[in-house]
Amino acid sequence: MEKKPVLFLGHGSPMNIILENSFTESLAQLGQSIPKPKAILVVSAHWQTKGTFITVNSAPEIIYDFYGFPQELYDVSYPCPGVNMQVAEWATILKNAGVAYDQQRGLDHGAWAVLKHLYPKADVPVMQLSLDYGKAPYEHYKLAKQLAPLRQQGVLMIGSGNIVHNLREIDWNMDAKPYDWGIEFDEQVKEAILEGKHEKLITYEKMGRSALLSIPTSEHYLPMLYTLGLQTEGDEVCFSHEGFQNASMSMRCFSIGK
Ligand code: ZN
Repeated sequence: MEKKPVLFLGHGSPMNIILENSFTESLAQLGQSIPKPKAILVVSAHWQTKGTFITVNSAPEIIYDFYGFPQELYDVSYPCPGVNMQVAEWATILKNAGVAYDQQRGLDHGAWAVLKHLYPKADVPVMQLSLDYGKAPYEHYKLAKQLAPLRQQGVLMIGSGNIVHNLREIDWNMDAKPYDWGIEFDEQVKEAILEGKHEKLITYEKMGRSALLSIPTSEHYLPMLYTLGLQTEGDEVCFSHEGFQNASMSMRCFSIGK
């Protein structure tokens, strides 16, 4: 089977669930450009655990893990199927990577808010992988490498977070002018991705003031290290969207491989 691409998607504000803007349109186009996968595996910023888990659930519940937004957002659903892990090859890859099963957990908005635009028909089975808060950035990157064989198994893997994500500096106007430090860091990350400088991106804390302001907490950044860890030789990078929302969130999205 042909190797599936890997995506990193900035998800930004939950408002994007119901909006039509350049970001959501780019997701729709991206979804149409990728042949339908057998399943999708999302590493979302919004599921942090001790140890690494994967959702194993044939009908995952949709989690509305955002508060104080218009009712319209809570009326949206994404009734996709899940995966019950009867595919032996997948189970072996996950076992070798030390990933445990979670049969209760549904899908948080880090997953379904982007999938709603990417695959609006909700006809592809979806799984989520948790972020182990005990792991160092390098260990997340290494874990991704262990999961890379899933790409040959027809699984589309997606890191869902934001390269720049600082809620303390947020402007509630989605179109507010982005901060200089955010623009600077987002550009530095773009260059490092293009040059394949993964080590630099794993040790982002050494990248100076703009990095520290862009990543006050790492949960939205770490999903990108999974995407990079899944890059193999010959995989080209393609940026499908760039820009900012709410002044302090980079909406940069990219794909690796075709
Ligand atoms: Zn988020």
